[in-house]
Amino acid sequence: MEMNKPGPEKDGILVLVAEDDAIIREQMAMTLRRAGMRVITAVDGHEAFETYLRSFPDLVVSDIRMPRMDGLELARRIREMSNDVCIILVSAYSDNETLFASINLRVDGFARKPVLPDELVSLTRRCNLHGRGERSLLSKVMDHNPDMFLTTDGERALYVNQPLMRFLGIASIEGHDALHMLGTRITPAHAAKHPDSPQPHAASVSWIADLVRQGGGADPLLAVSTPTGREPEPPQRTFLVRVGRLPLEDTVFSIVSFADVTRIQEERDFYLELALKDSLTGLGNRRRLMDELAKEAVRAGRYAKDLSIIILDIDDFKVLNDTHGHQVGDHVLCEIARIMEENVRQVDLLARHGGEEFCCLAPETGLEGAQEMAEKLRRRIALHDFDVAGRVTASFGVALFDPSETPEQFMARADKALYQAKRQGKNQVCVADAPETA
Ligand code: GH3
Ligand code: MG
Ligand code: MG
Repeated sequence: MEMNKPGPEKDGILVLVAEDDAIIREQMAMTLRRAGMRVITAVDGHEAFETYLRSFPDLVVSDIRMPRMDGLELARRIREMSNDVCIILVSAYSDNETLFASINLRVDGFARKPVLPDELVSLTRRCNLHGRGERSLLSKVMDHNPDMFLTTDGERALYVNQPLMRFLGIASIEGHDALHMLGTRITPAHAAKHPDSPQPHAASVSWIADLVRQGGGADPLLAVSTPTGREPEPPQRTFLVRVGRLPLEDTVFSIVSFADVTRIQEERDFYLELALKDSLTGLGNRRRLMDELAKEAVRAGRYAKDLSIIILDIDDFKVLNDTHGHQVGDHVLCEIARIMEENVRQVDLLARHGGEEFCCLAPETGLEGAQEMAEKLRRRIALHDFDVAGRVTASFGVALFDPSETPEQFMARADKALYQAKRQGKNQVCVADAPETA
């Protein structure tokens, strides 16, 4: 069989390109032909392996995700037969598992889609020069991955890939404690959010070494870049940190990857915020209120802090709608939301939790303070000139949280006070009785 193999010196290198996407396949083939190579192609892993057995190429460039047989399986089968052929894997994504598998299969290069022509050619050039050492292979695969990687024995960084060196602003890890540097440049997200929370492990710069010692933990960890204090401050980036064990011949390395998920995180935050917002007024919605109420109730119980709630319901809103139309009604709802925003503290949560019912959740506020707040809001609304709608009033119920009750019981007491205000003639504030003790 070896005798059938075309001589690379005489005829140029023979490359097999395995890729299911016809356009990408042709582009890669054209790039490699222009670089003086002879190219044969296959549309999936299965066809590629058959072609391999017929032609014994010098180099295989393969997509990972392909129908019938994927690129990793193809690489596995080829490696069973030959250690000499070079393999470059191309993928739109990368994860530790793929990376480990690539290393175990002694893959020579790894490229992330879309692969630029220059990048592809330079990867193939490097292939033919290398000697096969596990560590040099590892670095090759990692350097050509856009995510940041390092390997460590748990004490210090043994290898840091190019993207990570760029992030740290160093050209080599010689003379640098890269683990320490990285520990100051990136902080676990939960520690960054609560700088005063008692989490010595999370806040310490050796958190990466700690994470490696624990074997990475069950879930991937979110971490954020630490402010540099320089002007202009670069935008904060979010990373998904994963730790994997890499069994090599004589040592056990851990490999730590930092995938930049800033965009995904921003989108997630955006939609999360949207899901908790009332679309008409921009205040919180009922879900937001119940979420915050659950959290604040726990805090109030644990730290023995006051927590008050004010519920307001617009008086005769149905009449207002019937007289002036829904649009005017909607406008009144928005103006009331603005009046509330202007008259509460930053820490108070405002929500529209029903059609014409609003809520203000006021942490660290006693009954007297809440009653004053409600009275102020009542006056501001009653005195406000609502344009088309003219004068509008609202009724209020106020309650102080009792740690023995559930958030629902707390809300129900405020609601009861509100209906008392309605019964007594509207445009007034009523305070709820303390909960009945069982
Ligand atoms: P009361 O003084 O007893 O509170 O009487 P009311 O008319 O304000 O209360 P009721 O509960 O009978 O009617 C509430 C009205 O609020 C009925 C509904 O059409 C109106 N509504 C609810 N949501 C919206 C909204 O988003 N926009 C507008 N324009 N009207 C709404
Ligand atoms: Mg009403
Ligand atoms: Mg109502």
